[in-house]
This record gives sequence, C-alpha cells and structure tokens, in this order.
Amino acid sequence: MKDKIMPVGVVISGRDPLVSLEKVKSLGLFNCQMSIPPEEWWSKERIELIKKTAKEKKIKITSLICGFEGESYRDIPTIKRTVGLLNPAMRGKRVLRVFSYSDFAAKLEVKVIQTHIGFIPEDRADPDYEGLVIALQRIADYCRENNQFFALETGQEKALTLSKFIEDVNRLNVRVNFDPANMLLYDADDPIKALNILGRYVIGVHCKDGKRPERKGELGREYPLGEGDVGIEDFINKLKKIGYTGPLTIEREISGERQMRDILEAKELLERLVSKE
Ligand code: MG
Repeated sequence: MKDKIMPVGVVISGRDPLVSLEKVKSLGLFNCQMSIPPEEWWSKERIELIKKTAKEKKIKITSLICGFEGESYRDIPTIKRTVGLLNPAMRGKRVLRVFSYSDFAAKLEVKVIQTHIGFIPEDRADPDYEGLVIALQRIADYCRENNQFFALETGQEKALTLSKFIEDVNRLNVRVNFDPANMLLYDADDPIKALNILGRYVIGVHCKDGKRPERKGELGREYPLGEGDVGIEDFINKLKKIGYTGPLTIEREISGERQMRDILEAKELLERLVSKE
C-alpha cells in the first residue's frame, strides 16, 4: 500500500513513552515525534517494550527530539546562553550527548533525530560560527554511521542564515525540521517565503501557530493552530507545492485538557487542508 501523503502526527513527551504512545492513539493519530526518554528507558528490554507497544498501536515514531540538561527558553538572552550547541562552554559535552542519543535512536529504529542547536550567528566571522559548523559535522558523521538524518529545528535565525550554515556543514544527512511558528515567535523570518530557501532540506514539519513579539527583543506568543499569523492554509499549500510528502506533526506547547482539545482541532483542520485540491 502506498504511504499516505502528509499524515498528521503529534509531538509527545518521552518521559514515559508508553503513556505517550497511548495518548497518540487516543488522539486517533498514527505517527509522532518523541522527546528522548530519560536514560532509565535506554535498556534493551525497555527499548523492546517501546517498539512492541508502538507496533501494537500501529504508531510510527518519525523522529526523536534531543534536549540538553540546563536548557531554558525563559527569554532570548537565556536561550542564547543555554540552548543547543552555541555556548562553547557546553558544546563538546553536548556533542557527545547527541552521539548517545543517536545510538539510542538506532536501537529504537528511528531514522531522524533533531534539535534546536541555538541561534546560528548571521556573520560567518563570529567566533562561535566555525565551532558550530565543526560540531554539526561531527554529529552528522556520527549519525551517518547509524544510518540517520540529523534535523535542525528552524526559527531562531533567518532562513538564509540557516541554509548557508547547512551548506558550510556540507553533509548530506543534515536536514531541517521546519517550524513556521518559531519564525514568528523569534521574529526571525517570513515562514512561507522561508520554504523557498529551505524547502529542499525539509524532512519534518511542526504544525504550530504564533504571533510575532510586540516589542523587539522579546519572544512572541504561541496560539492554537489557525489562530496565529502563520497562515496555515498557505503553509500547507506551499508544502504541497515544494513536493513535501512527510508527516505534519502538530506541536502545541501547553499541557492538560486544553492541549488535547487544541491538538484535536488542529488535526481536523490539517486533514481538511491536506485533502483539499
Ligand atoms: Mg517546534
């Protein structure tokens, strides 16, 4: 049977993968991106249990989302200091951490791992730029040994900065997880136009909505899908136009009943837009 074009999925927590897989099922979905489970889930037996549970529920884990201890998204200066691989004081240790995530993903038979690597400097002469390129090359080479792609989450820089960076890294298994809302939240770029530049690298998509910050230097706000300024219909049409066929992964960064309701509404909206001629 031919795979469904742009199947709708959801971002889930890896804290307890079994509980999360049940959540995916209860939403009526069959694919998800999962944050990397804590190490207590890395044993052979527990990996088998995750695989078995996913198989029983007919759920595909399309990618694993890597995070690092000490990351905080409180405000832009804190993000710059703590998130991803930008801070040279943490970079080496975190690259090794990604290697272990890659090994875990390989055992779980997940083909993509992804993360926010932090704000990529616009200026190639920036002292952090070269170190970041080398870090990504090391990660990409390690992932290639495990037969994986490594995807960079968009949004903390302009699309052109990211595409130049990917060219400089120069590894075929480096791709993009495209999050259109982040481009607005970080006031970085126009998400639809950005697909003209990054389209060929897109291996995953976050369906998330948001609005730009009201004051410069602040973070914008996330909204339920369809209620922000992304222009979800234009976004889906643009994905069709560039020939993207992979999953549409709903990301709603709140919790509780409201989150479930927003995800279900997003699912309905996306299924309608995907099937629209
Ligand atoms: Mg995202």
